[in-house]
Amino acid sequence: MTIEHHPSEDFLARFAAGRLDQAEHIVIAAHATMCPRCRRFVAAFERLGGRALEAAEPVALAADAFDRVMTRIGQASPPPAVSKPLRAGEAGLPEWLSHYEIGPVRRVAPGVSMRPIVLPAGGKSRAFLLMSAPGTRMLEHTHTENELTCVLQGSFSHQGGRFGPGDFDLGDHSVDHQPVVGPEEPCVCLVAMTGKLRINGFLGRLIEPFIRL
Ligand SMILES: [Zn+2]
Repeated sequence: MTIEHHPSEDFLARFAAGRLDQAEHIVIAAHATMCPRCRRFVAAFERLGGRALEAAEPVALAADAFDRVMTRIGQASPPPAVSKPLRAGEAGLPEWLSHYEIGPVRRVAPGVSMRPIVLPAGGKSRAFLLMSAPGTRMLEHTHTENELTCVLQGSFSHQGGRFGPGDFDLGDHSVDHQPVVGPEEPCVCLVAMTGKLRINGFLGRLIEPFIRL
């Protein structure tokens, strides 16, 4: 596997510090499990963070700090339910995804379907698997906010290059692209999306209300 497209150092640093939204976190995690280069960066960043903590001067806590933490833990969303392992034959899905509950398949457009990944409520972005048939030409679109993608199987190409297994792609409002799925096999991507797709052109504005991702 040759990975050519990586998350920015800013994303990796926020991943290492646990500061990403959960949907975004699992897309970066998917990339990191396949990319030794980014794993090294994350490990180095974590070591740096640990040393900074060790070097920090101890600070006296408020008298009620423990109670406040316990109250917050009590208010936290429950962890995602553990579903049955994914069925054999669902090729391209990494083992660790079986720890998440994955919703039913929903058709999005001709040749394109999705399965939502069930995450605790309250996150700003949502995560889903996007499955596209070989050769599918997606509608030209842009994004109102961020879209993080990690390819799990197959490939797609757009103006930014070719994206194969392990590759990471970031779409935002500045990117206007029309991905085409590679002809070799179905493409399966793990996607974290904040905001909405904007389909370009007159036809796009007509059908946009019907595309729910
Ligand atoms: Zn990488």
